[in-house]
Amino acid sequence: MGIEEKAPAGFMLTSVEKIVGLARKSSVWPVTMGLACCAIEMMATGTPRYDISRFGMEVFRASPRHADLMIVSGRLSHKMAPIIRNVYDSMPEPKWVISMGVCASSGGMFNNYAIVQGCDHVVPVDIYLPGCPPRPEMLLHAILELHEQIKNTPLGVNREAAARAAEAAALRATPMHELKGEYA
Ligand code: SF4
Repeated sequence: MGIEEKAPAGFMLTSVEKIVGLARKSSVWPVTMGLACCAIEMMATGTPRYDISRFGMEVFRASPRHADLMIVSGRLSHKMAPIIRNVYDSMPEPKWVISMGVCASSGGMFNNYAIVQGCDHVVPVDIYLPGCPPRPEMLLHAILELHEQIKNTPLGVNREAAARAAEAAALRATPMHELKGEYA
């Protein structure tokens, strides 16, 4: 009996996805991207007390071309926005973004002309991390959640279908300006 009869349909593809997912989630390298006070907590996550190297992530890369994770740690000013986008565009695919703290996620208490009201106006965000500032344990939790996402990311046409489904769901969502009472 040939391998085609023995193996159920999709067996090879599923196995490759799992192996690639495991390899990717175990070798995430963050780019150095500290914007404000949250960056101190991010730096603390790299110290022996919290030991981010347990996850193979102790090397914060100075070059975006060596990195596949951006942790936006702090409020993002309009002046900094094009630079952060430039850094993001310089990172190779696949790449991920964690928005660390309320300032990065929504502008936080800085509801003014100088601060971007959420870094997702500039880069696509995979994980939003609340808190002011989030403690290193919270950042580690966000990283572990991201690892789960990365591990389960489909490949090839399956990835395109998942991206299309996510985009359609986002378009169906209620626009922010209609969520009066919650954000206004
Ligand atoms: S969330 Fe808090 S700690 Fe983080 S950048 Fe904003 S003010 Fe600073």
